[in-house]
Order: sequence, then C-alpha cells, then structure tokens
Amino acid sequence: MPGRVDPGSVERAAPKLIDLNFLGERGSVAAYLLDTPDGLALVDCGPSTTLGALESGMRAHGAELGDLRHLLLTHIHLDHAGAAGSLQARIPELQVYVHERGAPHLLGPERLIASATQIYGDQMARLWGEFRPLDEHRLHALSGGETILGGVRTFYTPGHAVHHLAYQSGGELFVGDVGGIRVDARQSARPPTPPPDIDLEAWAQSIEVLRGLDADTLHLAHFGSYPHDSAHWDGLEASIRTDAGRVEWRLAAGETLAAVTATYTLELEADLEAEGHGFAHRYAATCPPWMNVQGLARYFSRKAGRSTESGGPR
Ligand SMILES: [Zn+2]
Repeated sequence: MPGRVDPGSVERAAPKLIDLNFLGERGSVAAYLLDTPDGLALVDCGPSTTLGALESGMRAHGAELGDLRHLLLTHIHLDHAGAAGSLQARIPELQVYVHERGAPHLLGPERLIASATQIYGDQMARLWGEFRPLDEHRLHALSGGETILGGVRTFYTPGHAVHHLAYQSGGELFVGDVGGIRVDARQSARPPTPPPDIDLEAWAQSIEVLRGLDADTLHLAHFGSYPHDSAHWDGLEASIRTDAGRVEWRLAAGETLAAVTATYTLELEADLEAEGHGFAHRYAATCPPWMNVQGLARYFSRKAGRSTESGGPR
C-alpha cells in the first residue's frame, strides 16, 4: 500500500507471506511477517511440523527466527498456534498475544490436545508435532479492541472459533480463518467449519465488523492476500449459506452423518473445480470436507438444543 499513511506511525514495509508448506503442500498454511514500531512480529506461526519452513521462509526475507519479538495468534487451532510454545523456548524475548478465551488452553494445553485428538486421532504427531505449553509471563490475553505494538488494532471475531481475533496494521487486515479459505483469486472464499465452536450468527457479525474496516488488503491463513473488497465478503457469506444449508436440510431429513458427508464432499469438490482445476485438492489439503460437516452438524445440533454429539465418519 504505497503512500498509505498509518496515523501516528511512519510508513512500514508490506507484510511478507511465508508459505509453511504444510504436509508438503504449497499454498495451504500461511504465516505473515509484520514490521511494527515495537519490533518484528509474526501473525500465526503454524504447527511445530512446519518450523523448518518458517525458519527458511524468514531467511528468504532476510530475517532469523531469533529476530521475532511478537507472535500475534488469530486463534489457538494447531495449524495456527501449534509451534507457539516451541518458538518461545527458542526465542527468550518472544511475546505471544491471543484472545483471552484461548489463553488458558495455551498455558495448560490438555483440553486443546484432547479436542484435536478427537478430530485427528492417531494423525496428531504427523500433522502437528510437539505442542509445548506457553510461558505465562510472555503470554498476553486480549479481548479485542486493544491497540498493541504501537499501532496494531485487535478485533474480536468469533464464529470459526470462540477465541478468534483479527489484527489490523494500517491498510493490512489479518483475518485468520474467519475470512474463509481462498486458494486462488478465482475461488470464492469458503468457510472452514471444524468442531467444536462453529457459530454462524457470531460469524455473520464478525464479517460485518471486518467488512466495515478501512483496509486495503486481506491476509488469509489459508491462503494468501486479496483485496479487501465486498466481493470477498459477499462470496464468503454466500458459501456459508450454501455449505450450512446442504448439511442442515440433509440432517433434518434424517440422513446419516456419513451420507451427508459423502454428498457434501462431492458438491464442494464440484463447486471448487468449477472455479479452477486443482482447487478442490488444495482446499482439502487445508480443510478436509468431512471436518466441515462435523462442525456444522455439531452447530445445528447445539442450536436445536439437543446434546447429541457425533462420533464422525472416521
Ligand atoms: Zn486454520
């Protein structure tokens, strides 16, 4: 954003995208290097399994892991925050910021690990690697509405997760997963809806907040940077309606979760492939469709006031 003036601060370099090459896939999980008046910051760090890619990605931008002073977590899911404790162990100065509802789970990760294990089973180590608890003296709990690091604004943006934050620095807006998954400019943003927190009403409110911000560029964790325009948010809202509708009416019609998952997956793949060849594969590498169905099923079941928890198709 050349020429854009961030009130109260000097113009800084645009954020640098680092492709974490999650599971060897390019364009799946991103972290962003951000220069702040208070030192070098990273928005999300990915899991421990991608620490090597983070380190080499930083080197490509002329920085070392040890140069990091701040880690801004959009939320605590392991593909965003898994390496936070490992990074703190390696970088004594590293301060970590997270929503207050996520902070306890980073200090005592038992529930976070148990919840992820319910979804990923015996794949935990292969996907995420080690998870080290954070140092409470270097963990800062935020509620949204703060300005930190000399000019980074924080916004509470639940919907994908109850502990989700977005960050704004000048014209740059880091939206984590609440901004949807978009693997290419030709693809409409789609909602990642894993268990356990999906809340479509909260998500709609978060979109309204983010839509209204004066920003130029959106930075998505999955994956890349796009103009902050109404087309992005309109596309995301439409696909939330589509995905949620497909799951809701089939469950209401009495279909099994396995049947709903099979149909949902085919429909999602067809939508994505219609937008571009290979998009379905890239989407699934980031967000397996069966996981979306589990999260939406849980949301609708909770909404209906029932306590039925699904074991899922795995
Ligand atoms: Zn994610």
